Amino acid sequence: MEQQIQLLAKLAAIDAQLDELHDELGDLPIEVKKLESLVKDRLADAAVTKQSLEDLDHLRGTAHVTAQESIDKEQRLAKQQFQVKNNREFDAITKEIEHLKQERASLDERLRTAGVREENLRQTLAQQETVLEDAQEKLATKQQELADLSGDHNDEMRKFLDVRLKLIAALDDTIEIEYERIRKFHSNAAVAIRRNSCSGCYSAIPSQRIMEMKYQRDKMYTCENCGRILFTDDVDVEIDAVMEEHS
Ligand SMILES: [Zn+2]
Repeated sequence: MEQQIQLLAKLAAIDAQLDELHDELGDLPIEVKKLESLVKDRLADAAVTKQSLEDLDHLRGTAHVTAQESIDKEQRLAKQQFQVKNNREFDAITKEIEHLKQERASLDERLRTAGVREENLRQTLAQQETVLEDAQEKLATKQQELADLSGDHNDEMRKFLDVRLKLIAALDDTIEIEYERIRKFHSNAAVAIRRNSCSGCYSAIPSQRIMEMKYQRDKMYTCENCGRILFTDDVDVEIDAVMEEHS
């Protein structure tokens, strides 16, 4: 059991390193995700404006033909109107002609205001593209930061994880399960006693109990205040030594 406590202390030291590495990445992955979604939104905004400009171009390009078709159709209808058999047919054609006239009026109106509308759209697009470029730059910077950090991190993490695996393999399953259970509440689930106190919550440990721990190496002790697994300071381990011993 003494060996188990020793293994647990080493595991705790490794996990402290892994937690630290994890914290260093901090909010960076979330920031990158947020910027990615921002860039996506800005791209969509600009695409809508570009589409409106294209529609405007199309309107101008086809207006002449559209108007001519409408006039031809109206003339055909006007001729038909002389050959109708009843008032109902006459009224139907009148309505159709009215509709064509309205369409042409609306087309004229759209052409008349196309210049102003185009100018507005181009201004909007210029603004949208500035905002988009800004977001893209920010995203690129954050992505690079994350990539740089992750690269170093992955190498370091791999080393720690390798040693962790070896420790876990040697550790008794029930102890490991208990350790992982406590890890849900305290990232440092197994701590040394320092100056007669739990180094997790700083509550005092009676010296009689510490003596007992030193004589009963086969028993797992936990802090009565915080529930962390305790080990006496002579069991404490230095991370460099652990890495050297197990790598
Ligand atoms: Zn404690």
